[in-house]
Amino acid sequence: MNKTEQTSTASRITADMAGGLLHIDLAALASNWRTLRDNAGGAEASAVVKADAYGTGIEQAVPALHRAGCRTFFVAHVSEAIRVRTVAPDATIYVLNGLFPGTCATYVEHNLRPVLGSFEEIEEWASFCRSQGQKREAAIHVDTGMNRLGLTVEQGLTLKGRNDLKDFETALLMSHFVSAEESDNPLNIRQIDAFNAVRETLPGVRASLANSSGIFLKEKPHFDLVRPGYALYGGNPTPDRDNPMSAVAQLEARIVQLRWVEEDDTVGYNARWLALGRRRIATLSIGYADGYPRSASARGKSGEELLAGQVLVAGRPCPFAGNVSMDLITVDVTDIPDNEIKRGDTVTMIGGALTIDEVGRRAGTIGYEILTSLGRRYARSYTGTQG
Ligand SMILES: *Cc1c(COP(=O)(O)O)cnc(C)c1O
Repeated sequence: MNKTEQTSTASRITADMAGGLLHIDLAALASNWRTLRDNAGGAEASAVVKADAYGTGIEQAVPALHRAGCRTFFVAHVSEAIRVRTVAPDATIYVLNGLFPGTCATYVEHNLRPVLGSFEEIEEWASFCRSQGQKREAAIHVDTGMNRLGLTVEQGLTLKGRNDLKDFETALLMSHFVSAEESDNPLNIRQIDAFNAVRETLPGVRASLANSSGIFLKEKPHFDLVRPGYALYGGNPTPDRDNPMSAVAQLEARIVQLRWVEEDDTVGYNARWLALGRRRIATLSIGYADGYPRSASARGKSGEELLAGQVLVAGRPCPFAGNVSMDLITVDVTDIPDNEIKRGDTVTMIGGALTIDEVGRRAGTIGYEILTSLGRRYARSYTGTQG
């Protein structure tokens, strides 16, 4: 039996107070984790839960993943790691964004593992461990092509000669794909080869390279542990094929008002949408302050095919009309029969055909940004808490 409960952490906003209703299916999240594990060729499946578990809520997502069997979690910041520790006392938690000077004691206090990405960070962790007389675990990040975070491959190849590696436990050697969602991108193989070269110099150290899309590459770069994020939350890790994942987030907005506009009327800020005839406009109760991107605005004329936002009204797609406002979005609902739409109804902003990938595409961005921007003013509900 699925149990529904209102969130008790992020907010206590209930449906009757809010313009947007965000529903998170924790059973789908758990099932996605199992699917990813089963596709990882026996490697351990961790979960990347940075950015509040991609907007779904750390306090709800982490226990659901833990019940499914996940024991290793990755976050970006120490503040996120502490939230994970609170709900998963026995978990292994890595902090991806490196070690800031003077923060080693905080890691130890909460039993967190830093992901060390430079010789300076390695030296600081090693000397802290020496001073404590304890070999503590950390990961080492080698940059195989992103040029963003981690040791260079050349530096990685010199790791085995370093004395200070004996002062701590290198629990994981990791790197990160640049474009694993492009299955034929030659960068993938170049990164796998570079990662293997470093890994072979550190025998016995567990290795991890694959994010969500990396799990599905034909080269199967699973190594000892995979690090899915996006796919857990329903994003398609294989954009050139059908999505093997289940949707986790569903977003509904309420209709505040319905109105008719006449030919040559414009809708919204800066008059960027023009009615070519009599059109019916529904005003929805969410906007860019809720994380729905303003780049989904529909600038043009009624009836035009625009790359812009859509909503599902009574299951039918309706196009945005005009600029997305801070708290409101206007849509053209002329084609919806009168008996299927009224003030107060809810419409689907994310859900059904409007997958997070599709909403991202229509806003000129990626589904990752849609998820991680999910607003703080929504009434959030969770199902599948026993999942
Ligand atoms: C965010 C992140 C992941 C997860 O990537 P997805 O594409 O969301 O699966 C894995 N590893 C690192 C280092 C990351 O920063």
